[in-house]
Amino acid sequence: MRSVDSVIIGGGVSGMACGRTLHERGRDFVLLTKELGGRMLTSQSHLVNYGASYVTADYENILPFMSGGKRIRTSECYFFSDGRLVNLFSLRTLRSSVALVRLLVKARDFRKRLKRLRRRALHEQQKDILASDPVLSALVRTPARLFVEKLGLVDLNDLFFAPLFNSTGFIEYDKSNAFHYLDNLMPLVCRTYVADHGHCAEEMARGWSHRIRLEGVEGLVPADDGGYLVQTTGGAYHAQNVVLALPYKDAIQFWPVPEPEHNVPVYVIELVGERRPVFRDKGIVFFRPEEHDITILWRQITGSDIVFSRRCDPALDQYYESHRIVSAVCWPTAAVLSGHDWAAQDLGNGMYLASDYNICGLEDAFTTGVYAANRIIDGSQQGLTPGRAEEVTKKNGNEEDDMRQHGRQDSAHTGKGPS
Ligand SMILES: Cc1cc2nc3c(=O)[nH]c(=O)nc-3n(C[C@H](O)[C@H](O)[C@H](O)COP(=O)(O)OP(=O)(O)OC[C@H]3O[C@@H](n4cnc5c(N)ncnc54)[C@H](O)[C@@H]3O)c2cc1C
Repeated sequence: MRSVDSVIIGGGVSGMACGRTLHERGRDFVLLTKELGGRMLTSQSHLVNYGASYVTADYENILPFMSGGKRIRTSECYFFSDGRLVNLFSLRTLRSSVALVRLLVKARDFRKRLKRLRRRALHEQQKDILASDPVLSALVRTPARLFVEKLGLVDLNDLFFAPLFNSTGFIEYDKSNAFHYLDNLMPLVCRTYVADHGHCAEEMARGWSHRIRLEGVEGLVPADDGGYLVQTTGGAYHAQNVVLALPYKDAIQFWPVPEPEHNVPVYVIELVGERRPVFRDKGIVFFRPEEHDITILWRQITGSDIVFSRRCDPALDQYYESHRIVSAVCWPTAAVLSGHDWAAQDLGNGMYLASDYNICGLEDAFTTGVYAANRIIDGSQQGLTPGRAEEVTKKNGNEEDDMRQHGRQDSAHTGKGPS
């Protein structure tokens, strides 16, 4: 059995952010994962995303690890309603312009508060930050439907915002609250880009990939000395700290993590074909959730299309005259939507919860990983004498030197995701 100070379980953005922070501070850890990248999965060419698809300019933590994708403009987004396509620059928007302005004012304020939450989330639990912001707390308690009615947004919501919410939240907007509603509408007030994370996991692991083990965790139990025993497909580990950086449906297999209100499965299908005339030459088409089982139809730079669907076998003939499926991925937990009670991230006794239990998305998952790492670092600084802390840092530094001398490549452990 190998003994380490900390074990991170999960090699998606939250686990990688945690590993990177621990590495930068010279901590002793391993990251155990079935594969690297998690929901940042792409096609082999990295040109098509099969998981997280867009990032906004506000993703300050994750953007440095991406090469920069194409800008997504509102003018290329269409909404399918009553057999025809409309976009935001239409007469119907003009008629509801007062309500739209009201929404934009709320969205701008939300954006400012969300950015503040994210900055603080590197060192504080999301639920504590939420409790200290009365406006965000009220949004979490307000049903999205009530929010829409109060702002006089019913028409615009029906036409544009409910399909937009459904395309990334993967459930009907009225099953959620005003916080998630506004979070999903951030592309309206913030520059938005196609996520280019083909090399993101590799970049994040630069300098510490020797700490990544492609092993699935099968068991986790408390050890007699107050630490934990982790059983994997490849062996066993003893650790003082464990970071659970994986979604509910995976983590619940071996640890009683809190269940978010909604864990939504989604199918992502890449296909080539001849679209029906109404959809031809349109970049992105959103669909009304009550009428369609696909939520979005999205032309890729490769010429193929990506379709998100709540069913494994959507009626694609409705959208295509002919088509051929290139690839299909099922995500048991694609999006997570929390309710009123946000989950604690510090679970006590050296156990930390990362990932998207409270707020879904790459940037917020990233901050949960950094938070867990910072708690581990704070905890060990309190427990260690300065001499011991220096020793640990030096030992890790030597390992790096050994790696360089032996000329091992950082990408050696990069895994393949589901397809
Ligand atoms: C289709 C889709 C579209 C999305 N669109 C967007 C978007 O446009 N913008 C955005 O910001 N976010 C989007 N998201 C959400 C975003 O992808 C997630 O919030 C984020 O990637 C979560 O990262 P994570 O590291 O917490 O979890 P994950 O990425 O799920 O990583 C979990 C890791 O745990 C590993 N694992 C699982 N079980 C075990 C086990 N037993 N042992 C060891 N390892 C295990 C997995 O292999 C994986 O590496 C989307 C998600 C999906 C699926």
